[in-house]
Amino acid sequence: MVYDLIIIGGGPAGAAAAVYAGRKKLKTLLLAESFGGQSVASDDIQNWIGDRSISGVNLAKKLEDHARASESVEIILGKRATMVKKDGEEFAVTAQSGEEYRATTLIVVSGARRRTLNIPGEKEFSGKGVAYCATCDAPIFKGKTVAVIGGGNAGLEAVVDLLSYAAKVYLLVRSDAVKGDPVTFAKIKNSSRVETVYQAEIREILGDKFVKGLRYADTQSGDGKNLALDGVFVEIGSLPNSDFIKDAVRLNERGEIIIDHKTAASSVPGIWAAGDVSDSKYKQNNISVGDAIKAALSAYEYIINRKKLLN
Ligand SMILES: Cc1cc2nc3c(=O)[nH]c(=O)nc-3n(C[C@H](O)[C@H](O)[C@H](O)COP(=O)(O)OP(=O)(O)OC[C@H]3O[C@@H](n4cnc5c(N)ncnc54)[C@H](O)[C@@H]3O)c2cc1C
Repeated sequence: MVYDLIIIGGGPAGAAAAVYAGRKKLKTLLLAESFGGQSVASDDIQNWIGDRSISGVNLAKKLEDHARASESVEIILGKRATMVKKDGEEFAVTAQSGEEYRATTLIVVSGARRRTLNIPGEKEFSGKGVAYCATCDAPIFKGKTVAVIGGGNAGLEAVVDLLSYAAKVYLLVRSDAVKGDPVTFAKIKNSSRVETVYQAEIREILGDKFVKGLRYADTQSGDGKNLALDGVFVEIGSLPNSDFIKDAVRLNERGEIIIDHKTAASSVPGIWAAGDVSDSKYKQNNISVGDAIKAALSAYEYIINRKKLLN
């Protein structure tokens, strides 16, 4: 079977592309590892337009329900795309499990994943005090002392989450200022339980069976310092999930798919990309959705024009 369209990814962008493809009655396959996307980890999303506050889990449910509304959209979850190649007039998408799916167009909305520190102790203590999702793991650290690594939005939100449970939270920032939203920083910076340490480069996570602390260097003086801790939350940004398509389309130096922001077209006719895997400047749910809609409408136009040419 050859689909009109394969959507790779089941985050907000994937759901939006599926809804629009369904309304255009495109024979569509949505292939994703899981549904919902990254903000499923958040328990309070306050900027999803139309909802003053919604948990990531509820948003994921609503997105999946809407994506499943159209009969022309088939959804296969639990599959990771590992390769995309052009084969004549079609694209072939290979999944990790070995199956191949074919379509005349593709929308790549495979989002991003968390960046890791890659320092001694990180892997060893992962799940033993080293964590990557404060919303998920904050309750484990009730009454404890923890550090959050990273001064972007993810780091600041992690501190907010942790303040409901932890006795003390260190926010360790590599530069001399936080990069995250000033509104979120204002919520935490005056708390007596938060201590922000600037110019801190993390060198090692320390522990025995569980995390006991970390070692960092002051980037100005070079001095090494230790902090005694029960937990470390790594919140240093994300990497685009573009490995499987890196040989098929043009990527920028960060590994993001370069798109035309008018149409979400990639460098290859017949392939569009949107959301966090693309070179969109702002990585946000609503923006991912908007760009994915551009992609779906462009794919529809492309398919119609192609059919006209073939008739
Ligand atoms: C903790 C946290 C909180 C956030 N809070 C907010 C917020 O409050 N408001 C906001 O606007 N944004 C928020 N964001 C950012 C927002 O989540 C992202 O901008 C958004 O999820 C991007 O959507 P996406 O659909 O492009 O990709 P993603 O949400 O990353 O979804 C990618 C999808 O692709 C699938 N996938 C990945 N690789 C493959 C593959 N090889 N094959 C098949 N499927 C694959 C994944 O399983 C997933 O379904 C938050 C992010 C984080 C991490």
